[in-house]
This record gives sequence, structure tokens and C-alpha cells, in this order.
Amino acid sequence: MSRRSERCGLTRREFLQAGILVAAAAAVSTPRLVAGFEAPPSLDNNDSYYEPFLLEGDEDRIAYYEALGFVVEENGKKCVANPLLPNKCMVYTKPYRDDRFPLLPPGATEDFYRRCIRCGLCYFACSYMGYHAIRLASLREGLHKLGSPAVDNMITYPCTLCMECTKVCPTGALKEIPKEDVKMGIALIDPDLCWAWNSGDCKSCAKACPFGSEVFEFTFNEWGVHTRVNADKCKGCGLCVPACPIGGSAIHVLPLDEYERRIRNYKNTGMSYDDYLRLILETERNDPFKATWRAAINTDYIQNVRGIEEEKIATELGASDINVTSVRRHKGD
Ligand code: SF4
Ligand code: SF4
Ligand code: SF4
Repeated sequence: MSRRSERCGLTRREFLQAGILVAAAAAVSTPRLVAGFEAPPSLDNNDSYYEPFLLEGDEDRIAYYEALGFVVEENGKKCVANPLLPNKCMVYTKPYRDDRFPLLPPGATEDFYRRCIRCGLCYFACSYMGYHAIRLASLREGLHKLGSPAVDNMITYPCTLCMECTKVCPTGALKEIPKEDVKMGIALIDPDLCWAWNSGDCKSCAKACPFGSEVFEFTFNEWGVHTRVNADKCKGCGLCVPACPIGGSAIHVLPLDEYERRIRNYKNTGMSYDDYLRLILETERNDPFKATWRAAINTDYIQNVRGIEEEKIATELGASDINVTSVRRHKGD
């Protein structure tokens, strides 16, 4: 039974919640007045997480791709065609800032929002550790989430899985669990943005992953070593996100429901993520002309639109980074 204060007649929990409401009201009127409250990412609820390779206003590129027969029109706009999908624009996952989702810290229980009393201790623990992975949800995210922790700036502040936040949670809303059991989300690589899927050599995400040898799978063929994430093994910590050399990162961490939704109909092609990867691999094996143009178009986009930090590219993996059983030679997969 919770004790009520004689002075104000509130339980400690009610008192804390009232304090959070007052602080939130102040934070809304004076941004950043209260430490930890930040604006949530602005996301639409539709499929706006992709951007086409638009050619609007770029006369040189239009002439170049028109001469090659790789220009299509969608919604009245000219874009570069996907050589693997006739009459479809080449589309890419938007930069991380436009494709980020608030995730719960590690160890979050199923009834997290009921248990969390919005005390902010996890936020302070994370900040004191110097990781700054946690922010506190603002009123714009809904009253039921107000003041609760969210991890969604992984391109700057991924979760290091230090697990300190779970140790200070007074209600067990964040449970102390082994790092191996963490499931914050699932990382997904966009093969059209990934250097390793476009004739380049890159294993930076696998190298940055604390569970690299278990989580990453590699398929190699004449076109290089292609990297993918094993969804069952990924913890969703996001350490791979800033390691990626592609502008806005080619690897993003998604909540489980969004991950499922996205892989079912990848890039609105009507194909699953697995089928989309299979199509790329089959094209590389059977149609080098199309595969070459696919890689050339993507390389143009990566280098000239999104940008690539070549000094970030890691091509070597140590013995602890790689498990030989996760490497397979592609044979009609
Ligand atoms: S595990 Fe560490 S880095 Fe991750 S959210 Fe908790 S305190 Fe922050
Ligand atoms: S793939 Fe990325 S998100 Fe998943 S465990 Fe590895 S570093 Fe963390
Ligand atoms: S770090 Fe980025 S470019 Fe490199 S393999 Fe991973 S997703 Fe691809």
C-alpha cells in the first residue's frame, strides 16, 4: 500500500507524475528548459521512409541516363530507373534522421509504460556514463509516454549495452538482463545504399557490432562480399549505425513491428526483403550487364548525392569478428 504525504495528500508516485507534468508544460513553452526533453523525430505514418533518385533540374544527369534508357517517370517526376525492376524508380532508404524510431532502452519489460514512473534515473545514468543514448519523451509523443525514456539518435549516440540504466531503474520497468538477451530493435541494411552490395568492399558495420560474429552473415560471389543482418541475433543497439560510411547510414535499426512491415513488402516492390536480395544475387550471376548498371547507378547516388566517408570503411575482420559458419558461397540462394 502506498503512503500518502500528510502535507499534499499525494502518494510518492502521484507526486512524481505531477512534477513531470509541470516540468513538461514548462519544457513545451521553453524548449530544452528541462534536461533530457527533446523534440521527437518527425515521421509520417506512411511509406515516406524512401526517396527516389530524382532527376529534376539536373540536365546533365537527365541527358546521361536518357541516353542509356534509364529514365522513368513516377508521379510526374523524372527519376533514374531500377535496372532490375523495369519502369520503377531506384529508391533508397532516407537518411537516418528521417528514418528513426523511438526505441526503448535495453531490458524494457512488456508492460514498460505501466511500470515506468518517469523518474528519469535511466536518462541520468546514461548521461553520466557519457553515452547520451537516452532522451526523455516530450508531450508531443503523447501523455502516456511523456517523460519516459527513448533511444532514437543512434547515428550520434548508439546504445553501448553498458546496461547501467537497467541497474538504476527503481520499478523493474527496465530489467537487469544479460546483454545477449537484449532486443531493442532490428538492424536492416539497404542493399542499394550499402557499399558492399554495390561492388565495394566494406565490413564496418560487422566490425562495430559487439556480436558481429553471430549477427552478420556474408555471401560472397564474383561481385564481392555482401553483408546482411541475422534478425534473430541482432540486439538493436545501433552501434553499427554510425560505423557505416554512407551519408545518413545504409543500416538503420527499426522497431520489431516496423521491421516486419518493411521486409514483407520491401521498398513497395511487392517483394520481400529476402526476395529482393535474391534478385540482386541472381542478376549478378545471370545478367552482368544489368548488374553492372545497377551498381553504377547506386555508386553515382552514394558518391554524389548521399556522400561516403571512405576513411570509415573497414575491410578486414579479425578472428573474433567473424564466424566461418556465417560465410557462405552464393549458389543460387
Ligand atoms: S545500456 Fe548504457 S548506453 Fe544503453 S541506454 Fe542504457 S545506459 Fe545508455
Ligand atoms: S547489427 Fe547493429 S544493432 Fe544489431 S547487435 Fe549488431 S551493432 Fe547492434
Ligand atoms: S557499414 Fe554500411 S556500407 Fe559498410 S557493409 Fe555495413 S551497411 Fe554496408
